Amino acid sequence: MQEYKLYIDGKFCDAEGGKTADSINPATEEPWAKIARAGRVDTQRAIAAARKAFDEGPWRRMSQADRAKILNQIAAGLEAKSQEIAAIETQDSGGTIRKTAGDMMFGAAQLKYFAEMAEKLPLMEEIQVPQFPAQSKNYLQREAIGVCGQIIPWNFPLMMAVWKLGPALATGNTVVLKPATDTPCSALELAKIIDASDLPKGVVNVIHGSGAECGEEICTSPLIDKVAFTGSTEVGRRIQQLAAGTIKKVTLELGGKSANIILDDADLDMAIDGSLFGCFFHQGQACESGTRLFVSEAKHDEIVARLVERTKTLTIGDPLDFNSAQGPLISARQRETVLGYIKSGVDEGAKVAVGGKRPEGLPKGYYVEPTILTDVKNSMKVAQEEIFGPVLVVIKYKNIDDAIRMANDSIYGLGGAVWSKDKEKATVVAKQMRTGTVWINDYHLLSVAAPFGGYKQSGIGREFGMEGILEYTEVKHIHVDQVDNRAAKFWYGALFGA
Ligand code: NAD
Repeated sequence: MQEYKLYIDGKFCDAEGGKTADSINPATEEPWAKIARAGRVDTQRAIAAARKAFDEGPWRRMSQADRAKILNQIAAGLEAKSQEIAAIETQDSGGTIRKTAGDMMFGAAQLKYFAEMAEKLPLMEEIQVPQFPAQSKNYLQREAIGVCGQIIPWNFPLMMAVWKLGPALATGNTVVLKPATDTPCSALELAKIIDASDLPKGVVNVIHGSGAECGEEICTSPLIDKVAFTGSTEVGRRIQQLAAGTIKKVTLELGGKSANIILDDADLDMAIDGSLFGCFFHQGQACESGTRLFVSEAKHDEIVARLVERTKTLTIGDPLDFNSAQGPLISARQRETVLGYIKSGVDEGAKVAVGGKRPEGLPKGYYVEPTILTDVKNSMKVAQEEIFGPVLVVIKYKNIDDAIRMANDSIYGLGGAVWSKDKEKATVVAKQMRTGTVWINDYHLLSVAAPFGGYKQSGIGREFGMEGILEYTEVKHIHVDQVDNRAAKFWYGALFGA
């Protein structure tokens, strides 16, 4: 069995009391790795190391070019080990090797982008202000926020670690990273790469442990300046409450129930496969998944028939096999949640067009068939709540305004798509969708240069792009007096009199 330790202050170490936990392979239901399991005391050690590295270490004082060099070293290390880590992540998370191999490639490319941004970041700029009450020069100085607690989910373990570490490091922060309890291994592999780089000790610390203990310690510690969280809206709400005690900066990347609208003039070959990719990629366990499909009454039957036909071609099975399109879900609990949602849809009047149950011939593993529900109303639970599994609900619209109204009738606003041969018409629809990202004739493609994040209860703040990087900075205003003359400073009269 593979073994992992915690990474604290530049050392791989056991947890207090030698505690460990097994990681279960979702495809076999067997333990495949043993990982040191941190509690509050280990978390406090990691936080103290990050604090010391920030306050006393060289990292935040280094030149932007030097920081970029180290980020590029880490990116190269990830590239070199990408196949190995992809296989590890597949065993840890159940994500197909097709998906995890892509994640490693994107992860390395994204780190390179953050390195590039580290060099380009305008850390000091002069701004023009009205010359009232007196002549002055004014500068904005951007600085690292300090120690960042980063808490991430299990669906894209390595990529989520990169999305969090990249901007934090590019701007000179130090970090305590807590991967999800079920999927710590690829982040701990990344810690090995980081350890082999020139990054000063204590700048990145990676701990494995529960949200209740380690996560809550991170959110309440007075030594932490910012919490960056990706996960469910429910936990995000709790994190915001916990962080309020010490007024930490908080960014939240939360859940979604994204709308995917096929207009009548869409290229259906592309829209059918794109909509299935939008929902069933990674078994529907992506926050931005297009889980609500809106089709016109006129095209409904044709589109559903074609969706069902294509869904039947998807191979479900061993995620390490490159031929598998669908692997297992993360856990037995998640599988039961998903099956429970399918039942609730049927109880409310939906029909199962395809899938709907555990696949035959796979007695082991947390698999659920890719499922399409029709006769769904946007008010049903399956259309309002995030299922986080391979369940696509199809909803009929009367006209475009009706589709937009229903698309926006959600507490979430993370992703979405519009399919049409007329890209201008699609753009008009996209502009009316209250959501952070809209794809036109595509899905899931995120650009590292464009901000990603949610409207409404899908989150606060952005990742990626300059907006995402600036989330890791404080901005300081420096006012330099140009009057140089006590007598001319009439505003001191407010204290001393005329
Ligand atoms: P989760 O909210 O259950 O857990 C996420 C992380 O929070 C884990 O590391 C967990 O240990 C930790 N945590 C749990 N309770 C905590 C607490 N009380 N205090 C501090 N930390 C705590 O989410 P998950 O099930 O791992 O991931 C799925 C969710 O993540 C979905 O809702 C999905 O939409 C969301 N997600 C969002 C994005 C995005 O960018 N918006 C990306 C990926 C996933």
